[in-house]
Amino acid sequence: MSHLETTYYDVVVCGGGAGGVGAAIGAAKAGAKVCLVEKYGFLGGAATTSQVLAYCGLYQQGKDPIQAVAGVAEELLTELRALGLSADPHCSETTGNWIVMLDTELLKLALDRLLRKYQVDIHLHTRCAAVSRTGKDIEAVTLAGMEGRSRVVADAFVDASGDANLAMLTGVDYQIGNREHKLQALTMPLRIGGVNPSVKIDRANLQKAIGDYNINGQFPIARTDGGILIRLPLSRDLWWMLVDLPLDDLTSRSFTTAEMNGREMAHAYLAMLKQLPGCEQAYLVSTGPQVGVRETRHPESRYTITRDDILEGAEREDSVARAAWPIELHAEAGKPVYHSIGGRGFAQVPYDSLRAKGVDNLWYAGRVIGADDQAYGSVRVMGTAFATGQAAGVAAADFADRHHVSDVSSVQRQLLAQGAML
Ligand SMILES: Cc1cc2nc3c(=O)[nH]c(=O)nc-3n(C[C@H](O)[C@H](O)[C@H](O)COP(=O)(O)OP(=O)(O)OC[C@H]3O[C@@H](n4cnc5c(N)ncnc54)[C@H](O)[C@@H]3O)c2cc1C
Repeated sequence: MSHLETTYYDVVVCGGGAGGVGAAIGAAKAGAKVCLVEKYGFLGGAATTSQVLAYCGLYQQGKDPIQAVAGVAEELLTELRALGLSADPHCSETTGNWIVMLDTELLKLALDRLLRKYQVDIHLHTRCAAVSRTGKDIEAVTLAGMEGRSRVVADAFVDASGDANLAMLTGVDYQIGNREHKLQALTMPLRIGGVNPSVKIDRANLQKAIGDYNINGQFPIARTDGGILIRLPLSRDLWWMLVDLPLDDLTSRSFTTAEMNGREMAHAYLAMLKQLPGCEQAYLVSTGPQVGVRETRHPESRYTITRDDILEGAEREDSVARAAWPIELHAEAGKPVYHSIGGRGFAQVPYDSLRAKGVDNLWYAGRVIGADDQAYGSVRVMGTAFATGQAAGVAAADFADRHHVSDVSSVQRQLLAQGAML
């Protein structure tokens, strides 16, 4: 190991999605020297890797949008607006929830600019590939990049990989999927061009076309309501969620089957769409670099947020973030079920749900945080991921500074100073 080139940081963040971006900037603003590692050639996580082109969880459910997440997410929206995206809350026609619609290319650029502004050392095309430990701490991460392997030593680490890769490499126990090890369905969001913005897709027509397709079609469509279908900003392309795929396990073979079947389904469903008036010239702009993955590993944390915490809108003294998205479950492919949040319309996220069990210098961000299978349906969304990421980053920087885990009040003070909402 020692022959590898070694660099030193205060905080290393694994993953450049909403959770990782929140963590890297939160840590950098707290004064840490930060390294962010991302396996793709751009930041954004599911938004840019899988065309998940809407931020959920930034606002509470209700008649009017009430903000639930600020801080880093707010700074990103400001960058996006400077690039010409409205980034205003939009009420989803199908769910009635408030979302912020995105544009992939503007998002990539806005994220680059924001991270550069805070002098985060970004390693794209690089994976966290191995971990070395000393007792209860992580000592270093081995990175696999274009130039081969290198070693990064740091005081504190944040797992924002979505898949809990860092926790897994560290040896933290984890559960795959829910208690029965069943995983939420994959979805391949489609981007459809060639449908004039003046054309309003008639849902009744679409549902009839789906009914007809389902009689003999090779890939029966579960979302018989037509799925989520929204115009994207700028391009006015259609953003369509109709391709749902079950996932049996986390093997590469299962993902390969899903990716290839997903593409077959995308083209078959496009052919069906083209039969609708005004859609004759429709074409598939993109299926995204990879299929959308909702759920993989849940590593052990020091607190597990429960379904009741979310449904009651639990308020807590050790809160470091707000979860405002209703519980959204995808147990059956294509049949999402929603449960609203009680109380004041958000649940407070406890600090210990961000802390790895049994490892003192590892924090969780985004969809890696400790939550049971139902609470996970709320806390995983990207708006909330920015908030839990920022909290994990601040806590990691605080640890790097003091070399011990300080009282949550120190983390809360710094988060408030950074404009976060607790
Ligand atoms: C089909 C679908 C629809 C969804 N709809 C919405 C929606 O409309 N709005 C919403 O807010 N949320 C939605 N979600 C949920 C949301 O996208 C995710 O839960 C969210 O992206 C989690 O953010 P994250 O930062 O934790 O993880 P991710 O966005 O998954 O980011 C993790 C990053 O880590 C990187 N990474 C992983 N392993 C390594 C490694 N070893 N080394 C280096 N880098 C690594 C990955 O490449 C990735 O960029 C949806 C999810 C799916 C699948």
